[in-house]
Amino acid sequence: MNNRQLFLQHVAQTSDAPLAIEFTKASGMYMWDNHGKQYIDMIAGISVCNVGHCHPAVVEAIQSQAAQYMHLLVYGEFVQAPQVQYATYLSSILPPSLNCVYFTNSGSEATEGAMKLAKRYTGRHEIIAFKNSYHGSTQGSLSIMGDEYWRNAYRPLLPGIHHLDYNSFEAIDAINHNTAAVFAESVQAEAGVYKASKEWMQALRKKCTETGTLLVLDEIQCGFGRNGFLWSFEQYGIVPDVVLLGKALGAGMPLGAFVADKEIMWSLTNNPVLGHITTFGGHPVACAAGLAGAKALVEGDYIATIPAKEQLFLDLLKHPKIKAVRSVGMMFAVEFESFEVNKKIIDDCIANGLITDWFLFAPACLRLVPPLIITEDEVRTACKIILDAIDRVTF
Ligand code: PMP
Repeated sequence: MNNRQLFLQHVAQTSDAPLAIEFTKASGMYMWDNHGKQYIDMIAGISVCNVGHCHPAVVEAIQSQAAQYMHLLVYGEFVQAPQVQYATYLSSILPPSLNCVYFTNSGSEATEGAMKLAKRYTGRHEIIAFKNSYHGSTQGSLSIMGDEYWRNAYRPLLPGIHHLDYNSFEAIDAINHNTAAVFAESVQAEAGVYKASKEWMQALRKKCTETGTLLVLDEIQCGFGRNGFLWSFEQYGIVPDVVLLGKALGAGMPLGAFVADKEIMWSLTNNPVLGHITTFGGHPVACAAGLAGAKALVEGDYIATIPAKEQLFLDLLKHPKIKAVRSVGMMFAVEFESFEVNKKIIDDCIANGLITDWFLFAPACLRLVPPLIITEDEVRTACKIILDAIDRVTF
């Protein structure tokens, strides 16, 4: 039996679609399957490998940390140097009030931790979240997920959660002295790439401050340069009370974090019970990898190259069958008339050596979130494959 057959038999799947490809190698912008076929990666593990696959500094950091030690004891019981080094570095590239990092295993766990932090810090339990938002797949993060169809499959969920329209001023009116936190993506990703207006984010920030509500911004998908700035909240001119990080945070290793001011984070400490507990959260190897990846991103100056590449994508992605292209930095949703058409285009792209997929809440949209190291020539190559696929599928 080959690996693909064994996978189907023994690995739990969340999709009933047949598995297409077995990848054996990846480097930079490219991945290779077990037949040696090369693919250009236009999803970067969904915004994970922002500095490309197997970045030499990341590989080196993993190897040397693995040789030092991997896991000592439960998070927080001993000082593990890679956690300290990465948290210190993150504090230096975040605004001063985001100075205390709690590392988790995943983005979902960061969401859970921040929900618990908001309860402890405010003594309230009501949360405002947004329609079409995605914050993770665990029970708490599912409770704030902005899709009723999904939520209905897992009831009962957490009480006291209100789902309102993103970027709507009615949502701001709904925040009051019972609201523990507002959870919002800085850019709604799985909705199909929607940004809020600056006025709305600023009004949201103001109302949260006035009511003592924590503003929690999810930068798990749109942070780390993906949006064209290091952090998406920069483009709104605001700073959240808590930021959620994941995906690119670990540069390919599993790692999440919620980050807040020390004074807020202090409420998770022995008051009256321990706060969040995690065995592997902030794994030393993941922290070493993440630190190397973050430094490569910041020092590599990739973010400065994004506006020109974004414009090139927008100039090239023109076709009568494309209904819309939405972009924020290196996040693109290319919208077609239906999921059926989009799926055929995706399959054709994959057959022709380009990896892409669709968005959870926007199945008619093709996802383009390439590693930020993509060159302008690679943008042209990718767009040609996509446009040829559209011609073949929709002729
Ligand atoms: N928030 C956002 C915006 C995400 O895109 C994701 C993952 N798609 C998560 C949270 C959850 O992260 P994880 O899958 O690591 O639990």
